[in-house]
Amino acid sequence: RAKDALTQTVCFYEVSMDEAARSRRLIANDLWQAVERNELQLHYQVQKAVHTGETVGYEVLLRWHHAVRGTIPPGEFIPIAEECGAILPIGEWVLREACREAATWDNDHKIAVNLSPVQLGNADVADLVHRVLQETGLSPHRLELEITESTIIGDKERALNTLRSIKAFGVTIAIDDFGTGYSSLETLRAFPFDKIKLDRSFMNEVEASPQAKAIVRAILALGQTLRVPVLAEGVETRSQLDILLDEGCDEAQGYFLGRPVPVERIRVGEEKNKAA
Ligand code: C2E
Ligand code: MG
Ligand code: MG
Ligand code: MG
Repeated sequence: RAKDALTQTVCFYEVSMDEAARSRRLIANDLWQAVERNELQLHYQVQKAVHTGETVGYEVLLRWHHAVRGTIPPGEFIPIAEECGAILPIGEWVLREACREAATWDNDHKIAVNLSPVQLGNADVADLVHRVLQETGLSPHRLELEITESTIIGDKERALNTLRSIKAFGVTIAIDDFGTGYSSLETLRAFPFDKIKLDRSFMNEVEASPQAKAIVRAILALGQTLRVPVLAEGVETRSQLDILLDEGCDEAQGYFLGRPVPVERIRVGEEKNKAA
């Protein structure tokens, strides 16, 4: 009996592993065609100055509307795209679309585009950024690239050189999800960041946990010392924003300030602002 049960468990486990692998293969296969099939869409989430409430820019967040599976969240398909290499054409599409869009805006808001480790590890990424800026005519200082620490855990020397070339165009670099990696401080020391994005896990706890609040304070002080502005991610409530105001945080992003929305929605927002 016990042996039967064990065999069944093992078989079930193997079948479900197999299912997962199969599903990943199918997704990888479809990913290569997602751009051509027009299944990708960009959402924009506003980033605001905490003190004035002014809009500083928008983070660009990728959405995939799969014909059969419906909308697949980036947390699910980006790792697969990185694994199979489809992140390169997809990342290029994101960059070009976002720059082209922002170039039509009648303001100097920034766009912040997420850059995958695979893209940064690719020798041509600085070239690509340069080419896209030329093609779209977007002013380089309006483009920010967000990279996570994991992005540069690989070949640091190479990543550093690539970031330096990109920065030489006038493009800025933000470190994303700061405070969760194991080498945060070392990364901060070694790399030429223009902004620190405080991971949203800190916002979750900043009200209830004095420890979380102390860490937020310490990171804000660090930003001040290094003269690098800090943006808090995941601000969901008025009281979280009030804490950030008290503590002197520079910028904020989160559902309380605005959800990620298709570009039509922010264009309408701009019009309203102008009319008001
Ligand atoms: P991220 O760069 O840290 O993006 C922020 C994520 O937090 C987004 O999830 C956003 O929708 C979510 N978020 C924003 N405000 C709040 C809030 O107040 N509360 C909560 N709970 N969540 C909030 P999303 O769009 O699902 O993206 C997840 C991750 O996927 C991103 O994390 C980024 O690492 C990756 N990603 C998204 N688009 C791209 C892309 O174009 N290229 C690459 N390489 N990665 C991307
Ligand atoms: Mg990001
Ligand atoms: Mg982030
Ligand atoms: Mg995050």
